[in-house]
Parts: sequence; C-alpha cells; structure tokens
Amino acid sequence: MSEIAYIDPPAGCIGDLTLDEVWLDQLRQAVYERIARMDEIPALLAQLNATDWVRWLNDSGARVTVCAACNHYVRMGDAVNSELPWLDERLFCHECAERLRAEHTFVCDVCGHEFFAQRQPAPFNICPECDGPSVTVALSSLWAQLQRARKLNLPATLTPREWLDTLDYFGWRCAYCLRADFACLDHYVPVVQGGGTTQGNCVPACTSCNSAKGGRAPQGYLIKASAFTRVKEYLAGVEK
Ligand SMILES: [Zn+2]
Ligand SMILES: [Zn+2]
Ligand SMILES: [Zn+2]
Repeated sequence: MSEIAYIDPPAGCIGDLTLDEVWLDQLRQAVYERIARMDEIPALLAQLNATDWVRWLNDSGARVTVCAACNHYVRMGDAVNSELPWLDERLFCHECAERLRAEHTFVCDVCGHEFFAQRQPAPFNICPECDGPSVTVALSSLWAQLQRARKLNLPATLTPREWLDTLDYFGWRCAYCLRADFACLDHYVPVVQGGGTTQGNCVPACTSCNSAKGGRAPQGYLIKASAFTRVKEYLAGVEK
C-alpha cells in the first residue's frame, strides 16, 4: 500500500499546521477506513470540506480548530477567546485575537481607562462605566457647542472630562441661580462676542437664566451681579 504523505486541506481552509507522525497515522487510518481502493483517495479528498477536515483531524487526535478570523488551523490548546463580548465563544489564533482586541480598544475621554466597543463610539469615547442618560445629554450639548465654535473659528478646547468636572462642581445645577437643573451649556462671554467653547468660558445654565443672559455681555441685568462674580471667579480658577 502506498502511503499518503500529506493530505491537502480543502480550499477555504489555508493552514500551515504541521501534523506530527501520530496524528498523520491516525488521519491515514481515517482515510483508509473510508475507501476500498487506493485510487479512490483523490476523489475522497476532493469532496472533503473544511468542517469535515477539522472533524477528521480531531477524530484522529490532532485536536485542532480553525481560527474564526483568518481560517488558519490552531491547535486547541493555542486557540483563544477574543474577550470581545459580541464575538461570543468564537475561537481565534493568538495573532487575530490580539489584532481584534487592538482594533476595538478605545480610551475613555472621561476616566482614561481602556474599554472595548464594537463600533467607534461617537462623538466621544465614553466607557460603559462613565456613560449614563445625563452624561449623554451633557456631552451632546458639549459636542454641538464645540462644532459651533469651530465653525466660527473660535477656540473649541473644552474636553468631556473638563465639562463633566464643571457640571459636578455646580452639582449639575445652573451656575447662575444655583437652583434649577442644568439645561444647557452657557458661554460666559457669549459666542457672538467671541467667547469660545473652553473650560474657562463654559458653565451649566438653566433655560431661564440662559435666555435672560442671551447674547448680552456678562453684565446682563436680569441676573444678580453676585452670580456673575461667582461664575467669573470659578472660570478664572479653571482657566488655563
Ligand atoms: Zn487567525
Ligand atoms: Zn470612563
Ligand atoms: Zn438658572
């Protein structure tokens, strides 16, 4: 009986796994058990698909699987889970698992920790721990105001971390009346007067204080002068 030196893996299953002698022997047995004559081997191998191939290898004791990303063979002992929750229990070779993790790792703009996300988060990188309904509202108004300032060629440097710090400082209330809940991002020096979206110029405001202030100079008359002084002092303290 002539020997089968090597059984080519089926198309779509490009592998470079070296079968050791024991595995190869067992694999030959698997082939021989399925044929009556040696000249049937090519036809048998031609109809093998990738799934059968891996099953045969496993039956022969080789214990292999196919990487779910690159389709290369991986010994079971080397195959790893990607740790990316949306890829479930799929197994990968080390290179693919590492590449996938790197592609889906983002650094949170608020806490600075790395986190996994299936898609690029927008408009900011916010990890699940830092995210929440009020944070989403606060950051979407930040994003809108950053865009507005950029369009007008004004400074636009306020970061999510800085904006959330300012909101925390004022207890997520209006910086002017200190009573009503935060409703919008207020530019202390109004945008129409060249005030940028920066840490030294932005505070939370309620709807009525914000409209009382309008586009007027900070010395607008409907808000107490002491409130303006307090806000101005805070802003001077965080200004870089
Ligand atoms: Zn791979
Ligand atoms: Zn975070
Ligand atoms: Zn207010």
